[in-house]
Amino acid sequence: MLKTVKLVTLRALRESGMFHLLANSRWRQQRLLILCYHGTSLEDEHLWRPGLYMQPQKLEQRLEFLKKDGYSVLPLGEALQRLRAETLPRRSVAITFDDGSYDFYQQAFPRLKSYGFPATVYQTTYYTACELPIFNLVCSYMLWKRRGQVIANGVDIGLQGSLDLRTEPGRHKVVRGLIESADAEDLTGPERDDLAARLARLLTIDYAGIKTRRILQLMNAREVQDVARNGFDVQLHTHRHRTPGEERLFRREIQDNRAHIRELTANQPVHFCYPGGIHRPEFLPWLREEHVASATTCDAGLATRESESLLLPRFVDNQNRAQIEFESWVTGVGDLLAFRRAAPQVYVPSRS
Ligand SMILES: [Zn+2]
Repeated sequence: MLKTVKLVTLRALRESGMFHLLANSRWRQQRLLILCYHGTSLEDEHLWRPGLYMQPQKLEQRLEFLKKDGYSVLPLGEALQRLRAETLPRRSVAITFDDGSYDFYQQAFPRLKSYGFPATVYQTTYYTACELPIFNLVCSYMLWKRRGQVIANGVDIGLQGSLDLRTEPGRHKVVRGLIESADAEDLTGPERDDLAARLARLLTIDYAGIKTRRILQLMNAREVQDVARNGFDVQLHTHRHRTPGEERLFRREIQDNRAHIRELTANQPVHFCYPGGIHRPEFLPWLREEHVASATTCDAGLATRESESLLLPRFVDNQNRAQIEFESWVTGVGDLLAFRRAAPQVYVPSRS
């Protein structure tokens, strides 16, 4: 209902010329829109996690709009400098992709190249060395593939009782159980992968096929290098995609991540993105100590000259976003109308 009201309002505003007016305004020129993307589906990932994934055709539609309507797509570092110096061109946008997944390499990277658009890839690095599916994600994805079922006994994967896969909270409970037992036993990456393979057997899913098709994997070293060689900006997202509450561990995540990226690209990354969009006030001085120049969140908004450099807002685009909603954000209308800006700071499973 709310969504319908929103779309009707946006359509009326677009027809009234408001989108065009605002896109060309001095107000918009003083602001930068940082777009945030995660995955671009290889197969059906956007049906599993529409908040994280997008169909490649939809991404193409966005890029086409930016080109057709004359948006200035700038590299993030340059865009932030020009935001401070108040020298941004009209309709400025920076494009960012979180995680550095294989699907980025396969789907988004060639499309961005063909449009000549620069982008920043916030690369988490633990999985770049091992070419395995990301454990928690692939477990969740496989359970979703069997979403109508109740599995009588979870003993094969070390879980007590039956597994109810009919609802998102039910599936989430299984994933939590698997992560907790893997953490308790301090399993290595390959051992976690064996556990995922056992889950696949229990669900009668072809795990070897998922691995061959590189679903839910990160880019490997060669692919990250290829992206960097093509002028794309590879930046910080923590080594293990986590932000520990203890300073020493938090800073080690940045240091390990930076060392891996430096080794792969020969560049010194200074831009950071909070994994899961989770940020706390104590993180800011730790990031400054690590000489991090900017940090982006998943909180909605356009960045201004006054924005805190370590809490920059972005527009999170995904499968659930209608084209007109995207257009409202690039023109600036979305920022004026936004009624909810802060991203959720914990994972809340939906009921379906
Ligand atoms: Zn991430």
